[in-house]
Amino acid sequence: MILLLKHQLNEKELQELKDRLLSFHDLTCLSFNKQNVVITANDAFSVDRTELLNLPYVDRIVEQESEYPLASRLLKSDSSLIAIGPLTIGGQKPLIMAGPCAVESYQQVAAIAQAIAKSGAAVLRAGSYKPRSSPYSFQGLGEKGLEILRQIKKEYQLPIVSEIVASEQLAAFSDVVDILQVGARNMQNYQLLKALAKSNKPVLLKRNPANTIDEWLLSAEYLLAGGNPNVILCERGSKTFDSHLPVAFNLNIVSAVKKLTHLPLIADPSHASGDYKLAETIALSAILAGADGLLVEVHDQPDLAVTDGKQSLSCENFQKLMDKLATLTAIKDEQRT
Ligand code: PEP
Ligand code: MN
Repeated sequence: MILLLKHQLNEKELQELKDRLLSFHDLTCLSFNKQNVVITANDAFSVDRTELLNLPYVDRIVEQESEYPLASRLLKSDSSLIAIGPLTIGGQKPLIMAGPCAVESYQQVAAIAQAIAKSGAAVLRAGSYKPRSSPYSFQGLGEKGLEILRQIKKEYQLPIVSEIVASEQLAAFSDVVDILQVGARNMQNYQLLKALAKSNKPVLLKRNPANTIDEWLLSAEYLLAGGNPNVILCERGSKTFDSHLPVAFNLNIVSAVKKLTHLPLIADPSHASGDYKLAETIALSAILAGADGLLVEVHDQPDLAVTDGKQSLSCENFQKLMDKLATLTAIKDEQRT
């Protein structure tokens, strides 16, 4: 059950409403937002609706008709636009995020940042903390990597998306990372999601290749219900049963997800293919299918990349992708007019 509020509350009003709910109604499991209050199923069972409607700031009550009411189009039918500094995601122009899988050195990130910016990418992606399937694989440069990103951000003025793997890292990420990436492995790490819900930074939530759309949107709901409206979904392919095709990008997922949610959706053609030769086709097809942007792995020397070199586009191939994307978006714009 959700209480929709008359307007976005300030801290004082929010506290007033919280006190009223807790003291008068003895509701224990509430999630408070500035725009709405979520009441859990257990409490919703017994609470008096008329009393709730008489509370200050409460506009109306929405009984839960969806497992993920805030992520669904039930309460918000128009698609969400999310601001990343001066940039917007979810509008008509696809937003392109590109860069190496992992921060390896200052020189490496600087060379890639320069190239992707020249080609028209809006956001630099690079991981400092790499959650790897094997404990023996490179785990990322950690704090040293963040320091490199801090320097690059200052020099190239590019917003940065980087994966966060534990809530304790939030403070260290705060002045350098503009979009907090939640990787496929952590899609259902609810403690992490709850902590990121309290942050005001946009969160890029990847779908684990083995999880369903409902499970993904429920994870998004954790972020929204906890107070962070800036959620960007990222599709990186599904596991298949075919040994020749360990992951595959299902184009249908774009429209299926967009029908269910107002949140922007971007595609990651690199992890969805595992092969740079396929990444371009997946990237262009995903945009054609309605994706709001891309997260692409690009490396200045893919053959020498410490992680995911096989699926990383060279800077030259990224430029080719951006050229084709420009043609594609021009066609899409022409169709709209
Ligand atoms: C990544 O973006 O480099 C990454 C590790 O992706 P995923 O979480 O989708 O495996
Ligand atoms: Mn990667």
